[in-house]
Amino acid sequence: MCAQAVTLTSFGAARTVSGSLHLLDLDAPVAVDCGQFQGSPELEALNHQPLGFEPRDLSAVFLTHAHLDHVGRLPLLTRRGYRGPVYCTPATAALCEIVLLDAARIEVERYTQQLRAARRSGLPEDAVLPPLFEPAHVQSTLAQLRPELTFGEPLRHPGGGTVTPLRAGHILGSASLLFRTRAGRLLMSGDLGHWALAGAPLRGLQRPPESALADAAVLETTYAHRRHQPWASSVHDLAEILRGAVQRGGKILMPSFATERTQLLLWTLKTLMESGDVPHLPVFLDSPMAARATQEYFRFAGELRPDLAEAVASGLDPFSPSGLHTVKDAAESGKLARFPGPAILVAGNGMLSGGRMVRHLQAHLGDPAATIVLTGYQAPATPGGQLQAGAATITLGTERLEVRAQVRSVAGFSAHGDQATLLNYLAAAGWPSTWLVHGEPGAMTEFAGVLAGRGVSVAAAAAGETVRVLG
Ligand SMILES: [Zn+2]
Repeated sequence: MCAQAVTLTSFGAARTVSGSLHLLDLDAPVAVDCGQFQGSPELEALNHQPLGFEPRDLSAVFLTHAHLDHVGRLPLLTRRGYRGPVYCTPATAALCEIVLLDAARIEVERYTQQLRAARRSGLPEDAVLPPLFEPAHVQSTLAQLRPELTFGEPLRHPGGGTVTPLRAGHILGSASLLFRTRAGRLLMSGDLGHWALAGAPLRGLQRPPESALADAAVLETTYAHRRHQPWASSVHDLAEILRGAVQRGGKILMPSFATERTQLLLWTLKTLMESGDVPHLPVFLDSPMAARATQEYFRFAGELRPDLAEAVASGLDPFSPSGLHTVKDAAESGKLARFPGPAILVAGNGMLSGGRMVRHLQAHLGDPAATIVLTGYQAPATPGGQLQAGAATITLGTERLEVRAQVRSVAGFSAHGDQATLLNYLAAAGWPSTWLVHGEPGAMTEFAGVLAGRGVSVAAAAAGETVRVLG
């Protein structure tokens, strides 16, 4: 067989961390992920631009995981003519439904609000960007999902070779994809979690078998320039913050994203309360999306560490601290401000830029007894970012609020591996030639220097540029 070249063209997550969309020509054009740009208004405006290629030409789409920045433009593929299969793991398919329907709801709400504002102020209605997609478009996309990827098992891809998903340990269902082609083996990392965290619920990264070492890799670099705080010390810090917060007697607000972070927090709270490190407290989970996502952790318990998988199989719930109450609806959420005494409120979104946490923040930000615990990355422009930077006042909607609550940050809860994890991953893959994606330019430059120092061929993919990765 002659070795045909394999090319890579990135139409997202090229020298930035969102919008993952990579085209591979494996003798047949396929896409890996199709995510939304997220962050600044300039980045988000890119979601409304042409995709950069003709969706009808694709032979297949493969998904690494169900985060919005990896699946959030799938309905646009469908709207623009793609009718082919979208391969993913079963858990990714389940989470995709939750994530995409929520995104469609938010888009329709955003459009309705902006339209109303335009009418009020006499601005032209056609200046308002229409919704990227609506629930009906999501349903069409969901019908294209083929949840046929099984960890460790090769599946034929349209280029004539196989693709093998390997556990990526990032969120439920997350996979790295190892493509075998006539020109060699290409590893698409997707987002990577950790090898194994002593305390975390998900099983860790899966090492490629010896027979599957890669010739080339396309690697995420979110935290390629960082070393994470050890897990045990993060949990220790969280316990200390919670004990102090309980003593002050106020509410404890834990902003969280619905998938993975919420389950990690609930599980950590349960272990801390059961060990006596933190007093038993009421915990209100005020996120319907997080509650639905947690159900999928039970359905796909095989992806949890073996002891937790066993606990689930015997009917135990690792994600329910003793005082957990799942808030049913917005009316009940509104009444929480009147709940007396200390309690933990877990709600979205993780950066306080929307979702039910905004209302809780409005109720408690001015209370010196309250504590806001930030466990995730906070983009500087978001309310969470401003709180983390120590702002004395922040703006929520049209309201300017004084910050009197304590704001505490805990590092180490990231679902992304750090530099050491990425280096171990490349070592396990046999130090392939590496293309860097899904990172800020500074992180990529630093990591490229580290790899070059080890003699690894390395480059950062540029948006829209086609590079030969194999052959
Ligand atoms: Zn992700």
